Amino acid sequence: MLFGRGKKNPIKIADKKVSEWKYATCGYCSTGCSIEVGLNEAGKPVASRGVGGADVNRGKLCLKGIFEHELFDSAGRGTEPMMRDNFHDEWKTTDWDTALDKVHDEIRRVQEKYGRDSVAIISTGQMLTEEFYTLGKLTRGLIGTNNYDGNTTLCMSSAVSGYKRSFGSDGPPGCYEDFEHTDCLIAWGSNLPEQHPIIYWRMKEAQEARGFPLIVIDPRVTMLAQNADMHLAITPGTDVVLQNAMMHVILKEGLEDRRYIDANTNGIEELEAEVKNYDPTTAAKICGIDEDTIQNVARLFAKAGAAMQIWTMGINQSTHGSDGVVGINNLALITGNIGKPGGTSLSITGQCNAMGTREWSSCSGLPGFRYLEVPEHREEMAKFWNIDPEFFPKKRGLYQTDIYPAIETGQIKGLWLIATNPMSSLPNTARIRKSMEKLEFCVVQDCYQDTESAQYAHVYLPAGTWAEKEGVMTNTERRINVVKPVTKPHGNSKPDLWIFNRMAERFNKEGKVNFPEKAPDIFLEMAELSKGRLADISGMTHELLEKNRGVQWPYTEEQVKKGEAPPKGGKRIYTEDGTFSHPDGKAKLIPLPFIDNNEVPDDKFPFWLNTGRLIEHWHGRTKTGKLGNNNKYSPIPFAEINPDAAKELGIMAGDYVRLVSRRSDAILMAQLTQRVPKNMIFVPFHFYDCANRLTLGLLDPHSRQPAYKQSAVRIERIKDQKAAAKLSMEMREF
Ligand code: SF4
Repeated sequence: MLFGRGKKNPIKIADKKVSEWKYATCGYCSTGCSIEVGLNEAGKPVASRGVGGADVNRGKLCLKGIFEHELFDSAGRGTEPMMRDNFHDEWKTTDWDTALDKVHDEIRRVQEKYGRDSVAIISTGQMLTEEFYTLGKLTRGLIGTNNYDGNTTLCMSSAVSGYKRSFGSDGPPGCYEDFEHTDCLIAWGSNLPEQHPIIYWRMKEAQEARGFPLIVIDPRVTMLAQNADMHLAITPGTDVVLQNAMMHVILKEGLEDRRYIDANTNGIEELEAEVKNYDPTTAAKICGIDEDTIQNVARLFAKAGAAMQIWTMGINQSTHGSDGVVGINNLALITGNIGKPGGTSLSITGQCNAMGTREWSSCSGLPGFRYLEVPEHREEMAKFWNIDPEFFPKKRGLYQTDIYPAIETGQIKGLWLIATNPMSSLPNTARIRKSMEKLEFCVVQDCYQDTESAQYAHVYLPAGTWAEKEGVMTNTERRINVVKPVTKPHGNSKPDLWIFNRMAERFNKEGKVNFPEKAPDIFLEMAELSKGRLADISGMTHELLEKNRGVQWPYTEEQVKKGEAPPKGGKRIYTEDGTFSHPDGKAKLIPLPFIDNNEVPDDKFPFWLNTGRLIEHWHGRTKTGKLGNNNKYSPIPFAEINPDAAKELGIMAGDYVRLVSRRSDAILMAQLTQRVPKNMIFVPFHFYDCANRLTLGLLDPHSRQPAYKQSAVRIERIKDQKAAAKLSMEMREF
């Protein structure tokens, strides 16, 4: 039957019979969408919806947020603590006291036998900030190992390092509202529509209203590149060359902002001397972007009234990740594009609370962007926590990516993993597996008991997830928002904060250090510590955050006293001359000589291997792999192959192929697409025993972040497709 105008058959959405909506902040990406979870009369979470009055998402959610309520009772959730003597043994269920005593005793046993730093602690960007802060206090103040890091080293440490080198501190200067003011946007290695869909929507709406040019720099024709005015398909790992060439043009043609440079920066002479070597003709041969395009983009950027740069993993996950961030900052600084509406360098952060861990976890130092290397910071924190300042190390310990080689060499014997799954997320899986097998003691604390890393654990602690807990998160634009407990932790699992506090009791028998039980009280402790610092949150409370659907830092006690309302819309830092965090208040312009140290394609391994994300999934699929509505849209891994390359190799769409690198191999289904050039394969990184069997992951010298996106592989056609399909499935069975 045909329906005429006005007689359309409306889509019927099943009535979920929601009797109450509870407030939270989305627990996946760093966009920071305000979300409400709907509960039915029995108190079961049955629906999710965006919050209309929220600055960030204005009522919208992406595919992951819409189905987020399904994760509370998803498959694989841990319900009881478990223990075993050897990781080959069967798990035995135990009670919390026994499990926590065992963790305490093993940590102390390993430390007494091999030294304080022989135990490593690796956390995440997924927990709530009060949990990070408490874990930091426990680790730095009581356990005393210096080998403490977060999995944020895998996604954001280049951004952190680059910000620190340029501006003297971590902390993204811009905000989403900058899209509404910019006259030119360059996106470096950032695929917003798939990675940060709601930020993409904010950007797209602003672009449609004002028509600013969008330039996407990415080796792959990503969804964002398809929507760009200009797409620069750069040779992987050569962003610094393009940045230097753009600065060469800007400085040669006098397009820089001299007033801004003189008032706010140091190092222009050294920078000028370096970029003189990068004329566009020479640079084009290295970075693969022709000289006219380099000149045009440089002029467009420098002449724009306000120009903005964003980036994600395309910059960070490189051996030049930190330099790439500094290069972006250099470009912004010489054109005066920091701290003004529409003029900024904005790192689009990865995990929901990667910023929270950067600010408060003490992984890279001490809370509130304090450093172990600064004696006054050690003194201040020791006094605040009531510990001996000499207990603190004088400089930060190993990054996550250096902890595994230290397990290999026997320096580290014990490991506490918290909401992270290195067996899936670190490059070169075979090497990580060997490290995990060498551990004398491993405890995994996670809301899922079936993670690949838990296979190697001696104790498993079931943790609550996301909105089973209470606390705050900080998003990409420095907005702190609150998560309320929507439902109780699954089974006998406990909030991470509860677990840290119970562990603290065991390490803090004399009760010298105070560990508040409740997240709002811990937040007040953090607020006190933040006074007068860059990330000053002394004007905030949980109530204020919920009322305002998130507030950007800084928001200070003085502002509250003066009656200033929390900022609405967008707030920037480094807005005035001389406000940077280096001691002299100026930003540093840093010359960036380029040394090509990547693994590059050759005769034996002729394809670049590029890895990245899909909209349906979140990181290692620990969560989204269990959710029908996410997983069914993207159930299996695949390899994007250019149709011309496939034709030469006799590969058809849907064939299984074997990708081989110097590390290992993986069998994947071929997806033929022009999104990748003829010499590149793209593989989504979400699937276990897949992309990271192949990746090399050389490390950035400053940030120790792995170069996931620059490895070399060859493709082998497989004759027996049935056997390949079976093997491919078996490789992913767990
Ligand atoms: Fe959640 Fe990010 Fe999607 Fe927003 S864009 S709903 S924060 S996953």
